[in-house]
Amino acid sequence: MSRVTEIYGSMVFSDSAMKERLPKDTYQTIQHTIKEGKHLDINVANAVANAMKDWAIEKGATHFTHWFQPMTGVTAEKHDSFISPTDDGKVLMEFSGKELVRGESDASSFPSGGLRATFEARGYTAWDATSPAFVKDHTLYIPTAFCSYGGYALDKKTPLLRSMEDISKQAVRILRLFGNDKVNQVKTTVGSEQEYFLIDRNVYDKREDLIITGRTLFGSKAPKGQELSDHYFGSIKSRVAGFMQELDDELWKLGISARTEHNEVAPGQHELAPIYETTNIAADHNQLTMDLMKRIARKHDMVCLLAEKPFDGVNGSGKHNNWSLQTDTGINLLEPGDTPFDNAQFLLFLCAVIKAVDEYQDLLRISVASAGNDHRLGASEAPPAIMSIYVGEELNEVLEAIRNNTSYGGKEKTLFKVGVHTLPRFPKDTTDRNRTSPFAFTGNKFEFRALGSNSSISDVNTVLNTIVSEELRQFADELESSENFPVQLHTLIHRVVKEHMRIVFNGNGYDEEWTKEAENRGLLNLKTTVDALPYFLKEKNINLMSSHKVLSKEEMQSRYEIMLDNYTSVINIEALTMIDMSRKQIMPAVCAFSKSLSESIYYKGEDKASKYELTTRSELDGYLDDMLSMTSKLETLVSGKKAPSDTLKKAQFYKDNVIPVMEKLRMYADKLENLTDRNYWPFPTYSDILFSVQ
Ligand code: ADP
Ligand code: MG
Repeated sequence: MSRVTEIYGSMVFSDSAMKERLPKDTYQTIQHTIKEGKHLDINVANAVANAMKDWAIEKGATHFTHWFQPMTGVTAEKHDSFISPTDDGKVLMEFSGKELVRGESDASSFPSGGLRATFEARGYTAWDATSPAFVKDHTLYIPTAFCSYGGYALDKKTPLLRSMEDISKQAVRILRLFGNDKVNQVKTTVGSEQEYFLIDRNVYDKREDLIITGRTLFGSKAPKGQELSDHYFGSIKSRVAGFMQELDDELWKLGISARTEHNEVAPGQHELAPIYETTNIAADHNQLTMDLMKRIARKHDMVCLLAEKPFDGVNGSGKHNNWSLQTDTGINLLEPGDTPFDNAQFLLFLCAVIKAVDEYQDLLRISVASAGNDHRLGASEAPPAIMSIYVGEELNEVLEAIRNNTSYGGKEKTLFKVGVHTLPRFPKDTTDRNRTSPFAFTGNKFEFRALGSNSSISDVNTVLNTIVSEELRQFADELESSENFPVQLHTLIHRVVKEHMRIVFNGNGYDEEWTKEAENRGLLNLKTTVDALPYFLKEKNINLMSSHKVLSKEEMQSRYEIMLDNYTSVINIEALTMIDMSRKQIMPAVCAFSKSLSESIYYKGEDKASKYELTTRSELDGYLDDMLSMTSKLETLVSGKKAPSDTLKKAQFYKDNVIPVMEKLRMYADKLENLTDRNYWPFPTYSDILFSVQ
């Protein structure tokens, strides 16, 4: 056995570990429970808990934790040890079924957006048996969902699980129409490509902005950025290679199939891609991946930056969410087939996605919205804030033929008929042919590319699953009641393509022209988080989420409040950090340099002093005044006296009033940086940071 096959999944309480350690009937009951989401009998829970504990102890665990994903976007955990004292002063290692399936958690310190009234501070965590438990840091991690006692979801996992169940139901209905009676479940699959920066710990430790906010708030451009494109897929430096190797090892132990590691476009930027898996597990694994990246970087005296845009003027980091539908018989439903019949089925699922993205552009936009991601979307380095679908030339031709009732391919003079004609083989897109599209069909899956690097993939997939499920539901309703399935199918596909082709765009998403064209097509262009969020509570969106039982109206309202509040808090923290750095670091440093110039001018005499000394000093003094006035202005703005109390108005106030002043303050600081003697500048520059890992 190779070393890799030996360690792979070794820290996971996997299906095979369970099978090995549980009596046959207990194992079968638990499998049943997992597959059908049934309530777990306490005796079975006790047996599983005991087996899990014994296994975990063998792996070195002393504690267990219910691991969950509150609305903060990162994971939370509370550790308890297995020990239970005995009468003779010794301890036993115990873990009950009750402790496995349900945990109490004080919910009052997690964001709830008003859902959790103060008299109901308790929340509880419930075992998600569909995602395997694992051992990390001497602790048994149990993936859980997090809810209030009133049953409201307080986390990102609960709605994701609900949406997976929902889309499965609707997809199976469609398959039945095509005569498939074998499939009982359809899962959504996800592979999330993760971008990140690695910088040296020494430079990081000297930057208050990086430490507090994860991104640089000041910094003049480095003379060399990504212009030469010499970093992309370039050879990996040995320090980085060491990091990647350890990361791979740790991920593999946890059963996370990290597969591709390469350098990205910007200096210091890299990417990791795992092999796709069930959405729920992919979401847990992406959280673990981000966590391990940060921790392993530290061990190599580096810091991993996951902020969406750590540096101005240099590409930010995103995450690509590759998404598809897979049956429990192993068929990818977004794979075009070999027969006209299979192709018709493929086209129907494709149409569901096209219609879904068109009708719920707003929800998709919101699912990637955050203060940090606003710096990327539409900045000609990441997809624009306008949602559109890229399908590639070949498929586009087919769709156009269906739309216009014209022949496809030119030679054959018959009309393209769904269910009669065969589609050509679409070449799999392995080259990222169109990187400017937010939502691209890449041969047998869709790649949503607008996510920021540090966002949880749960929100995006909850939305994707639910909107596609809604379209499948409508299709199934229509087709189930039809007398003539093939005819009705053709009519439906023709109608959907006709009505929703506006969302398909195969051109350059960075082009100015596209913004105008998209407007003509009536597509939304929600530039910032604050512009986008009010759409969340549109009636059509509340109806969608509540009718599919993914989020209730109250849960949506709470999420809306949390997202707005998060936006304002992030910018407020950034503003305060800027004020601090401006007053305590930048202005004093510039004064010191200005003083040294003054001393030199004084000793030489004004008339003998060099032009450099005289002009520099006066420029410094001028920008210092500007900086001081912007700093004071920012202080007044964030003092709390001016901001409205309504959460939406407050977020708007931060977007319209606070951000522009932050930008000006930065502009003056960056001008000062360019004029100031390096030895006086109080923290590492962009060059120092971007090329810190050699
Ligand atoms: P690239 O994007 O570089 O062309 P791939 O297409 O092989 O590479 O895969 C990119 C990501 O998409 C990987 O994480 C991969 O596992 C994932 N992926 C591939 N097929 C599917 C699928 N059917 N469903 C979800 N994700 C998939
Ligand atoms: Mg890709």
